[in-house]
Amino acid sequence: MTQIIGVRKMKHANSFTGIVPKYGVEPTNADLLAQTLTDINKWGADVFKIAEYSGNRPLTCTTYKIFQERDLLSMFKIPATTLLNYLMHLEDHYHRDNPYHNSTHAADVTQSTHVLLSSQALDNVFTDLEVLAAIFASAIHDVDHPGLTNQYLVHTGSELALMYNDESVLENHHLAVAFKLLQEDNCNIFLNLSDKQRQTLRKMVIDMVLATDMSKHMSLLADLKTMVETKKVAGSGVLMLDNYTDKIQVLQNMVHCSDLSNPTKPIEIYKKSVDRLMEEFFQQGDKERERGMDISPMCDRHNSTIEKSQVGFIDYIVHPLWETWADLVFPDAQEILDTLEDNRDWYQSMIPVSPSASFSTRKRNSDKEEETKFQFDMDEVKDNNCDSAQTLKVSTPKTH
Ligand code: AMP
Ligand code: MG
Ligand code: ZN
Repeated sequence: MTQIIGVRKMKHANSFTGIVPKYGVEPTNADLLAQTLTDINKWGADVFKIAEYSGNRPLTCTTYKIFQERDLLSMFKIPATTLLNYLMHLEDHYHRDNPYHNSTHAADVTQSTHVLLSSQALDNVFTDLEVLAAIFASAIHDVDHPGLTNQYLVHTGSELALMYNDESVLENHHLAVAFKLLQEDNCNIFLNLSDKQRQTLRKMVIDMVLATDMSKHMSLLADLKTMVETKKVAGSGVLMLDNYTDKIQVLQNMVHCSDLSNPTKPIEIYKKSVDRLMEEFFQQGDKERERGMDISPMCDRHNSTIEKSQVGFIDYIVHPLWETWADLVFPDAQEILDTLEDNRDWYQSMIPVSPSASFSTRKRNSDKEEETKFQFDMDEVKDNNCDSAQTLKVSTPKTH
């Protein structure tokens, strides 16, 4: 194959040469956009509003603002026009019609990583190049996502699965597209980096984006737990990470935490993410039904309890991850963990009880171990540090 599927030429109208607008975009409401962007350094900034006020350019607008806040343009000699050309070209390769995996999700993950990088416990731990790599990795991490899972792409023998031999199909593709887009005219934001810097950055970005594959979740978490158990801190409480392996491990977990951060956001924002993700899953389920395939877990619009899946997802995936992250950067992420726990309880309280079920049936059901299924497989973890819930099917404990 001589081309990367999905890569398109840049729309001429997007090419910046002259005057750069303040926020890098043509806002539909400049005042409200300015106001919403004042939360750029805070957990829970409203990316849905940023999308609305920026003329549906949340990724360009958010990432541009973060580059400015962190002075990355002057640090790496990136012309503002090149940065905006690249960001718009990148944003155009996120599918607008995906309910969830669109550029608003990418903006959300980028902004979340930006906040996590500012954790007190990580003060001065990362070089400017590592910061640049983490923000770039977050911005590109789902580009050209087709709104279908790795499993679906593999099971249907898609072009993408063929291209990547079934291994981290989407994640490999996001990386290939993002690096390809840098080659478009006036899009190479890394032009003024040294060869060495460019090589190091590329390696880090690849390591981070490949780690967003959910099949790597358990092994990533197991390694993070080991790191927490043996963590070294300086007198000021700042983490001591002195080699590439340790640093990249923290960065991989950071981007993964950002990717799984919607349940830690203010409930109104979290609910919007859930609605969008579920609609995307349901659209995949509709395709599976049409093709006579088994419908993937959480993807059947006629037979799924959204609230229950959220509680299961938090209990088995999100909380163990965030609890470990919060230990790593203690006490910086305590508020995030509190919000996650409140949100979990909110979804738990919203689980509908079937009106037809008698008390005794309900009691029996709640005593029975139920299965929670997620739509991703997880690799076996060889490390015995890890909890046992590492396969596709995990048993939920008794309901409360
Ligand atoms: P990504 O597809 O790169 O965004 O990876 C994150 C994955 O985590 C998603 O594809 C979903 O499988 C899963 N995920 C994220 N947020 C939720 C959520 N609120 N409920 C269920 N699954 C989620
Ligand atoms: Mg992804
Ligand atoms: Zn994502």
